[in-house]
Amino acid sequence: MNKPMNSAELKAIDGEHHLHPFTDFKDLKERGTRIVTKAENVYIYTDEGQKLLDGMSGLWCCNLGYSQPSIVEAVAKQMAELPYYNNFFQCSHPPAIQLSKELTDLAPAHINNVFFTNSGSEGNDTVIRLVNRYWDLKGQPEKCNIIARKNAYHGSTVAAASLGGMGYMHKQFNTLGNIHHVDQPYWFDEGGNMTPEEFGLKAAKSLEDKILELGPETVGAFIAEPIQGAGGVIIPPSTYWPAVQEILNKYDILFISDEVIFGFGRTGKMFGCDYYGTKPDMINFAKAVTNGYQPLGGVLVGDKVTDVLKTQGGDFNHGFTYSGHPAAAAAALATLKVMRDENIVENVEKELGPYLAEKLAVVAEHPLVGEVRSVGLVGAIELVKDKKTRARWGSDGEAGGACRQASLNNDLVMRATGDIMLVAPPLVITKAQIDELIQKAMKALDEAHEQLK
Ligand code: PLP
Repeated sequence: MNKPMNSAELKAIDGEHHLHPFTDFKDLKERGTRIVTKAENVYIYTDEGQKLLDGMSGLWCCNLGYSQPSIVEAVAKQMAELPYYNNFFQCSHPPAIQLSKELTDLAPAHINNVFFTNSGSEGNDTVIRLVNRYWDLKGQPEKCNIIARKNAYHGSTVAAASLGGMGYMHKQFNTLGNIHHVDQPYWFDEGGNMTPEEFGLKAAKSLEDKILELGPETVGAFIAEPIQGAGGVIIPPSTYWPAVQEILNKYDILFISDEVIFGFGRTGKMFGCDYYGTKPDMINFAKAVTNGYQPLGGVLVGDKVTDVLKTQGGDFNHGFTYSGHPAAAAAALATLKVMRDENIVENVEKELGPYLAEKLAVVAEHPLVGEVRSVGLVGAIELVKDKKTRARWGSDGEAGGACRQASLNNDLVMRATGDIMLVAPPLVITKAQIDELIQKAMKALDEAHEQLK
């Protein structure tokens, strides 16, 4: 067996050989890494012995926290029985079959099929393939334009990052054609003097304007998250989704709900579309479906699309070696069982979500805070210099960066998107642990404020 490495050796090798995702390689080598060595319940532990409350559920995925032995056992059992087989051509295996039934039972009634992937990004590549295939089979191949939103995050493959609306990502590669971006319903930053309701309608109108500009006969789909997650937990005003749904129905445009973050209970409903009452033709999911313990994602596909795909025949030339991997499917089945047995989603809706909202209302009083917002167990804290005018501090991200560092110093993982602090703790967090999260966040805000002044 390899000799275990000490912390200094691990850091040196990491800096020398490991290219991290979404990281400045030069900067990382100079600053060194925070190495996580173990995790329990809602806490992670570093190589230096620091214990941090994980306010982000890993990367929005460990919704049931880090101590779920039944998921671990299910994976081990599956690995011993059938560690791999694929679902290509006419093959299948029991865990993928059972999971397809459980997921389609959880999905809205008009959704009865699922295509498995290994990640949210692959799911969005799959979405594009399904949208194109659907309109081709319908005899309308010109409906090949897809509309997404500015500041959206849909993943990091070329297709998924093209769907995303992050300019800083687009700068680093050649984006796919036929993808167009419209306004996001971000009232706090872009709403000016409008009421949130007026602004929600304005953002929805930017979708209709784009459809008319391109020609409705050329637009195949609109993709959006129920709430923009990585973009800053942008919770839309109440007028937004009803108006968007009406526009999509009017022009016969498929609606894709990217629920990679909001699927599986984050809002207090099973899916974000259940929370907002929208009717997606496809739901892209990943992350929390396995509690982050195994890589698995997929696209739930509605009857409108599968009625065409399944009656017209002809191969769908798309798939991944590990689509519906047995060990990942077993992890998902065990995850869904814990969610059912422990009433996780209902508890978010009735107990934990309202409790977090109540505690965040206190955070809103902090002088550095311009707004707090939350739905279920996801929240955002806007950092401003002037509460009244919503003016920011210095360069974009200055306050966020300071607060993020102060938060880590105070044993709390919060994420910063520009000057927005994000929290999305595991759905198994207790009220006492929410108190702890808030208390640490307040300390971080105090320290960041002092530093900025
Ligand atoms: N879609 C959304 C909404 C996401 O938030 C993410 C990741 O955070 C993705 C897609 C990409 O998922 P993955 O990182 O599993 O490829």
